Amino acid sequence: MVLVRSLFVPGPTNVPDTVRKAIDVPMEDHRAPDLPNFILPLFEDLKKVFKTKTGQVFLFPASGTGGWEASMSNTLNPGDKVLAARFGQFSHLWINLCERLGLEVQIVECEWGTGVPLEIFGEILAADKTHSIKAVLATQNETATGVKSDIANLRVVMDEAKHPAMLYVDGVSSIASVDFQMDKWGVDLAVSGSQKGFMLPAGLAIMAASKKALEASKKVTMRRCYFDFKDMIATNATGYFPYTPPMTLLRGLRASLDRIFDEGLENVFERHSFLAEGVRRAVSAWGLNLCAKSPQWYSDTVTAIVVPDGRDANDVIKHAYNRYGLSLGAGLSVVAGKVFRIGHLGDLNELMLMSAISGAEMAMRDVGILEVKPGSGVAAAQEFYRIEGQALPK
Ligand SMILES: *Cc1c(COP(=O)(O)O)cnc(C)c1O
Repeated sequence: MVLVRSLFVPGPTNVPDTVRKAIDVPMEDHRAPDLPNFILPLFEDLKKVFKTKTGQVFLFPASGTGGWEASMSNTLNPGDKVLAARFGQFSHLWINLCERLGLEVQIVECEWGTGVPLEIFGEILAADKTHSIKAVLATQNETATGVKSDIANLRVVMDEAKHPAMLYVDGVSSIASVDFQMDKWGVDLAVSGSQKGFMLPAGLAIMAASKKALEASKKVTMRRCYFDFKDMIATNATGYFPYTPPMTLLRGLRASLDRIFDEGLENVFERHSFLAEGVRRAVSAWGLNLCAKSPQWYSDTVTAIVVPDGRDANDVIKHAYNRYGLSLGAGLSVVAGKVFRIGHLGDLNELMLMSAISGAEMAMRDVGILEVKPGSGVAAAQEFYRIEGQALPK
């Protein structure tokens, strides 16, 4: 029986001990007179992570999906048109949510393994002379396929088309792990969740809205109650919430932000990119392909690995779990059975990742993927981490 389990799904991620201890506190009074001393700095510090000075941060008791719903329902009207590309399970689910909320989604179908098609978006926006498109949706990191999209240049494309649509970014598996610049990129709604880069249990939708989005929220007719920005803004202003906040998660969030700032936000990004490259070296040494079609799409928080034709990636995943206690991410929907994923975001270092690479390698050989040579991926990652790591900040 496997007693020790290791978690390499791309969320939930490992919760560091300091964060776990911060969560393990007696229940407290969420209307205490001194609570604002704790809450108000949390909002200020989250703005640093989103890189926004003018935006407003929201913390809803929800997962990332709740953050999507809050974003759409606070800022758009039923029937409004939004532009989105579908290239993985998460971009798909976001589109699905929009449709179920009564929005009209102009969908650009893209090959899974690619990301936001900037040129096509540019053409669509330039052709939309009446500005019927109210929002452009972009998944910064498509967790299902290990694909990152270029949000900075999406903003450039929108500006070049002189289109006034708002820009909504799903950063659930990227914010706090890779660079995100809300103000500079002109992002109007940014959504994240607690259980990925923020290294917390699931339960907080962590999001931010621009001034433009807040202005729009004053006029919209879509219904919402629990997720209403207005109630949040009014109570957050004094350091409270409109309903009982998950205080333990907020205590954990404090510890998580402290850890991120101790390491340095930019160092956190660099670590993620470094760890990701080691995983890609291993995959290449295995002789396998990534789901991401080319380097421009490579994600620094999750790698989706395509198993050889005729093999079932779920066999690898099941065996890795049962035999080695290793949780790998499954392929979802269109890529189910074709890929397995190694999540490499949050509280990780080289040695932890070596265990995942080694475990995946053993599991693949165990289920008969013998073209993967023993030690090949491990050696490639080792050498990369050992040699390239010398240049990392101490
Ligand atoms: C995990 C994830 C979500 C969904 O978040 P939940 O917290 O499971 O609701 C949405 N988008 C992306 C890109 C994700 O990785």
